[in-house]
Amino acid sequence: MVQTTQIVLASRPSGMPAEQNFRTETVELPAPGAGEALLQTLYLSLDPYMRGRMSDAPSYAPPVRIGQPMVGATVSRVLESTDPALAPGDTVLGYGGWRSHSVEPLRQLRKLDATVAPVTTALGVLGMPGFTAYSGLLTIGRPQPGETVVVAAATGPVGSAVGQIAKIKGAHTVGIAGGPKKVALLKDRFGFDIALDHRAPDFADRLAAATPDGIDVYFENVGGAVFDAVLPRLNPFARIPVCGLVADYNATELPPGPDRLGRFMSTVLRKSLTVRGFIQSEFAPDQFGDFLSEMGGWIRDGRVHYLEDIVDGLEHAVEAFGGLLVGKNLGKLIVEVAD
Ligand code: NDP
Repeated sequence: MVQTTQIVLASRPSGMPAEQNFRTETVELPAPGAGEALLQTLYLSLDPYMRGRMSDAPSYAPPVRIGQPMVGATVSRVLESTDPALAPGDTVLGYGGWRSHSVEPLRQLRKLDATVAPVTTALGVLGMPGFTAYSGLLTIGRPQPGETVVVAAATGPVGSAVGQIAKIKGAHTVGIAGGPKKVALLKDRFGFDIALDHRAPDFADRLAAATPDGIDVYFENVGGAVFDAVLPRLNPFARIPVCGLVADYNATELPPGPDRLGRFMSTVLRKSLTVRGFIQSEFAPDQFGDFLSEMGGWIRDGRVHYLEDIVDGLEHAVEAFGGLLVGKNLGKLIVEVAD
């Protein structure tokens, strides 16, 4: 019998998740059955969508039940396998959750080759977040050469990929991030044409000055004050892939100030905007293969760069996750669970 140390959801957070909303426990795992493998987690991905799983508000995916381990993508080492295609010692991408060990169906696992790319990239630039950027930008945003593309959370795995893919497609790119360190990275590492700090008191004026020709694609990652500043800058026929609204994930009430829905809908109408929400899994069956080969090529050619923020130890997962929601992470947030 193998034991797993796991972080379970003890209660549903109101506002920012706190340590008391979780419990760490050690339980025995069943032996893997036919079509299953026993895995040791090496790396756990922490992603903003997990905040939604902690809540029982209606969503596109069911919530984590109270007392159940938190879900999450993982890179793991195979300890035991019932299929010759996966041998002990192999490294796989799976969905083991916030746990040191897991038993998972083999059909849910993808074997990784560390000689092709560092295995952690399967959680970021070559994984779900990179694919989110690729599919949402190219399918909904459709940036054309010379157009202006704006994205916030732009040093994160989604936003940084959005900016770099938009640049490859010939667009003029405006990246938005929080604080001087991240803003410097936008230009130096990710090649944005313009870098802006959404925390600056005159952010809306700076955005207006930085977009003299208006905005053709706004890749919506954050919502909140950034969206308020973007809305008046949108050009006729602008496209808005609505990917995430992280500014609101911990909200317990509506934002202060007047109801802005009327102004928003009137802008959608007058400017013939396309506002299209999406969950990346919608596009995966048709596009994930193309994404892996194209993104892999861009990384090899030095046209796409990535940044990872690796936190040591599962015991730091809750604190690190809270930090992600307020921008304390610097790049794709990953927990190193075992060596
Ligand atoms: P990041 O690693 O970029 O982390 C989130 C970032 O959001 C923070 O680092 C912070 O960056 C920024 N942020 C937090 N609060 C605010 C705020 N009030 N105003 C502006 N920015 C804020 O996350 P990901 O790249 O993993 O995800 C980006 C977005 O994409 C999220 O909304 C996520 O939910 C969404 N997503 C959607 C998917 C889909 O299928 N639709 C799939 C994957 C992700 P900073 O310090 O720069 O402010």
